[in-house]
Amino acid sequence: MGVAGQQRLAQASVAIVGCGALGTYHAAALARAGVGRLRIIDRDYVEWNNLQRQWLYDETDAEEALPKAVAAARALRRVNSSIIIEPEVADLTPRNAADLLEDADLILDGTDNFETRYLVNDYAVQQRVPWIYGAAVGSYGIVMPVLPGDTACLRCVYPDPPAGTQPTCETAGVLATITTLIGSLQVTAALQILSGHADQVPRRLTTIDVWTGALRSIAQPARDSDCPCCAKRQFPWLEGGHRAPISLCGRNAVQIHLQDRPVDLTALAATLAEFGSVRANEFALRFLIDSYEMTIFADGRAIVKGTTEPGVARSLYAKYVGG
Ligand SMILES: [Zn+2]
Repeated sequence: MGVAGQQRLAQASVAIVGCGALGTYHAAALARAGVGRLRIIDRDYVEWNNLQRQWLYDETDAEEALPKAVAAARALRRVNSSIIIEPEVADLTPRNAADLLEDADLILDGTDNFETRYLVNDYAVQQRVPWIYGAAVGSYGIVMPVLPGDTACLRCVYPDPPAGTQPTCETAGVLATITTLIGSLQVTAALQILSGHADQVPRRLTTIDVWTGALRSIAQPARDSDCPCCAKRQFPWLEGGHRAPISLCGRNAVQIHLQDRPVDLTALAATLAEFGSVRANEFALRFLIDSYEMTIFADGRAIVKGTTEPGVARSLYAKYVGG
């Protein structure tokens, strides 16, 4: 990489979308590599069952139910104090994608859902920003680089998200070792691009199963001249037609994300204390009511645990938060 490559890293800006098993690895590796600016975007908070695989978090973070972006930034500042770390406690949506991803030289995929991946692909192709697709579940994972104008994009290879329910890290589990392996391939491609060696990024679609040892790497499919995204330049995920309150990662929880409407957490905590158990810090409020657990963030978003019904979650939100 050399001195010139290292200097380029110091000038570079990377957005990490999702800071779970993959994203914590991306962030730690890039902070140690000296990438100048890291924006960490995550909508969730640290839970005990994350600690098995999410490298930057510890028991204190889970105890405090800290937002992952905040906990990650704290840990990373102890790793490298000379870089800029920008935690964003937010769900990446069509509304905020341009703000949150602005100025990124590269985007790393640490998400756990296709909705967000197709949104990232739309944004990256539209703005000609490289991104590295990566996913892992069970003992299996997949990696593919997307260099707009050069390689196939996600929709050239997978025109539409998979139909029906998919196994997720919550329902099927995930072995921590596959996440580091996939994260490592993603970060390597990122370092190649950021240091000025984009031509050397392997144009390959790689799948690995760490349990069986099966490793398959094929030449990345060519660009599809009919691709709705990179050929016809249609960006439906970015234009927002697909977004609704989402069922989170199959783990008996629903996220409610209405219009961005900041919430005064201190005032809300005082109000809700009449109805159930409340715990709040400056980033989020946790409210236990009946068999449900609501976590409400300062941006007005909420995650309701204890149901997979969007309607139930929506009505709890209306009842206790408003809107
Ligand atoms: Zn395409």
